[in-house]
Amino acid sequence: GGQSFPEGEDPSVSLFRDYLRLRTVHPEPDYDAALRFLDRIAEELELPLKKIEVFPGRVISIMTWEGTNPTLKSILLNSHTDVVPVYQEHWKYDAFSAFKDAEGNIYARGSQDMKCVTIQYIQAVRRLKARGWKPTRTLHLMFVPDEEVGGYKGMETFVKQPEFHKLNIGFALDEGLANPTDAFTVFYGERNPWWITVHCPGS
Ligand SMILES: [Zn+2]
Repeated sequence: GGQSFPEGEDPSVSLFRDYLRLRTVHPEPDYDAALRFLDRIAEELELPLKKIEVFPGRVISIMTWEGTNPTLKSILLNSHTDVVPVYQEHWKYDAFSAFKDAEGNIYARGSQDMKCVTIQYIQAVRRLKARGWKPTRTLHLMFVPDEEVGGYKGMETFVKQPEFHKLNIGFALDEGLANPTDAFTVFYGERNPWWITVHCPGS
């Protein structure tokens, strides 16, 4: 589909709604639609887009904005393209229509988790590029499938592959969670992830 610009709407919002309309919903996400969308974005941003098929039909896409010092560790802006299923009968609006009400609320599966973040990355890059700004560190925008079903056919497998290590990532951002107050929720980690496997063999 082409880009639509409803009158008076910020182009970032229109792009967001376009992306929300792609049915990348489990159990059979339309990942091809997401790949076509990303092709279009890469072309617009004039950034190379690399695609790595980690499993049949499960493609990781990486858009790269090379830094002025590409020997430095890179920054990863990561997001998943899939969304969890819907019980449409419990929705006020079609979950894939990206309906926007008079108050400006946009209804869609993926509006919070996490197509909003994907479009925010893209539009931030677009604006910085348009301004002539250049990153010192290389920036990778990575779009992964399969997160909502555990990531085995996506990130979990990809991080063990040489193509991942070649990205030379020093720091990554990925999704957070909505916060109903004026604060923002940030998931914090340092040194080592605090996930411990405890084996209790018993006797
Ligand atoms: Zn998510």
